[in-house]
Amino acid sequence: MLKIENLTVVANKKTILDNFNLTINKGEICALMGPNGVGKSTICKVLLNDPNYQIKKGNIYYNDTLINKVKTEDRAKMGIFLLNQTPITIPGVTNSEMLRLALSSKTNEAVDILKFHKELKSICEKLDIPTAFIHRNINEDMSGGERKKNELLHLWMLKPNFIILDEVDSGLDVDSFKIVLKSLKEYYQKYNPTILIITHNTKVFKYLKPHTINILSDGHIIKSGDISLAKVIDEEGYETFKIKGKTIYE
Ligand code: ADP
Ligand code: MG
Repeated sequence: MLKIENLTVVANKKTILDNFNLTINKGEICALMGPNGVGKSTICKVLLNDPNYQIKKGNIYYNDTLINKVKTEDRAKMGIFLLNQTPITIPGVTNSEMLRLALSSKTNEAVDILKFHKELKSICEKLDIPTAFIHRNINEDMSGGERKKNELLHLWMLKPNFIILDEVDSGLDVDSFKIVLKSLKEYYQKYNPTILIITHNTKVFKYLKPHTINILSDGHIIKSGDISLAKVIDEEGYETFKIKGKTIYE
């Protein structure tokens, strides 16, 4: 489904990713962890072709297609969805306007308005957000937690098959955490998407159980393992995977 090969990425003359490799199979949940500032969000942005990040070397394949030069909107149409660490505001564009346009451009068909509104309403109810959100400008004047839920509204409507969650749990209170994670779990069980999940909080794994956990440091993955790695990280931190600045590969 996703294969990143020897990726080196530069932003403002700073090399952030250096020979980064990662493969995620279809329907798998892959967790990416690591200290602050190691390049986790950079990977998310590169996967959506953010122009601030240049690929100096390496390839990104999505369903066996090389996508290095594919435009952001085309990646979205291919089913890639990023839930940003800090979802941005889009003043002047409402959720419903954006979603109607996005859906019709994805399917090349006119949207059935009655069905569309019914679906939006039922998702709002499930996410415990007011149905008035449907006509609100995207993320404008919304709290951190509301923004995450608003992005989930987009996710449920657009039905992506590759989801990137960049610290989805950050800024959520305990109740919103449960609602958001339960909703993602339900989506996973219903549509079986492939998920790349970036988080510091291993409680997230109770809802979305990763097939692999990968630790990023020095621009590439220094350790990969199964769910049991979460316990080691919680107890010993990331430092345990490095000895005197050297990486342990095993
Ligand atoms: P993480 O998500 O792992 O905390 P980021 O991917 O946001 O880390 O950033 C990795 C490093 O690259 C940080 O040191 C950050 O300051 C730097 N960085 C990120 N984006 C840019 C940019 N556009 N220009 C210059 N440096 C950047
Ligand atoms: Mg980040």
